[in-house]
Amino acid sequence: MPTLHARSALAAESIFSVMSRLAVQHGAVNLGQGFPAGAPPDFLLDALRAGAGVTDQYTAPAGLPALREALAADLGVRSEQVSVTCGATEALHALADALYGPGDEVLMFEPVFDVYRPQAQLSGARPVPVPMTLTRDGWSPDLDALERLVTPRTRALLVNNPHNPTGHVFTPQELARLVDVARTHDLWIVADEVYDELYFAGPPTPLRTLAPERTFTVGSAGKRLEATGWRVGWVVSPVGVSPGVSGLHQWATFCAPAPLQAAVAAALPVARARDFYGELRAAYGARMRLLASGLRALGLEVQVPGGTYFLTALAPGVDARRLVEEGGVAVIPGDAFYAQGAAPEGLVRLAFCKPQEEILRALERLEAYLGA
Ligand code: GLN
Repeated sequence: MPTLHARSALAAESIFSVMSRLAVQHGAVNLGQGFPAGAPPDFLLDALRAGAGVTDQYTAPAGLPALREALAADLGVRSEQVSVTCGATEALHALADALYGPGDEVLMFEPVFDVYRPQAQLSGARPVPVPMTLTRDGWSPDLDALERLVTPRTRALLVNNPHNPTGHVFTPQELARLVDVARTHDLWIVADEVYDELYFAGPPTPLRTLAPERTFTVGSAGKRLEATGWRVGWVVSPVGVSPGVSGLHQWATFCAPAPLQAAVAAALPVARARDFYGELRAAYGARMRLLASGLRALGLEVQVPGGTYFLTALAPGVDARRLVEEGGVAVIPGDAFYAQGAAPEGLVRLAFCKPQEEILRALERLEAYLGA
């Protein structure tokens, strides 16, 4: 038999799929994988129905013109800069293909969203973790470490803002320093801003506004419009660089699903006009506070997020893989976001994009489990 390529070692099931599978298997409340429990908004589903039978053939790899234009208007960029992809995950994959390869190093903040490391490795590059430190005041990126970790092989800096899993929103000062490092060492910046509309204090500053010449922005209709299974994402490239991204995306999937692109194009301006994102922030902010205060009442140390729909907490002695089975609550174990052995003791991530009753049920179950 021929052997599999060594890359197949990266085919392990993602922690998000693992925990969702275990949640179903054990009838657990799922505060693990970050997807909203409810249906997408009516204006998105209505747009899909209205377009049925109209937009069913391939679009250009760069995307349906109407969607590129809607995104350009929403984001304040030119439509030629926009490449539509099959979700943010594929957008990040196309960027990994476009920007780095064997021998290159890619800086990424740790705890790190699980997709970044294997994607860098698939393109032959080496992921280099930059620590985020955890103190009583919460999470903060170690920007001195960032400077120290740059080498002549560093090609790119991958920044997730607001940051998953910590919920940290990088301050304008932190972003200015990142840009300074990127300019000094001539690095690309990949800004994963899929939670750009999900913030609870001030809005995050888009990195492309600070370093337009070198920043690729990744976004997601699934995150913005509560439809994570639709797989419609995008890259905003610096002016003049986008054909590379769309050209690589065409070899993977050719184009994102046309009817879904059309529906997202119609829904984006409606979401703005109705302040849909403001409503989401209000609803999720309330659930975040409910979950945070409930966990604190159970004696856990909680880090209040500035954005995303996740929060982290320290639950020393709690093993997330046993909790789902024995306590009936699925969370994401912190170690999934770290290189082997580097996670703070007891770190867990909980998603609060779930109905209030589920959050309350999870808190009751946690109380019973921790008190047992
Ligand atoms: N972004 C989501 C999370 O962090 C899940 C992503 C995925 O499962 N592909 O939970």
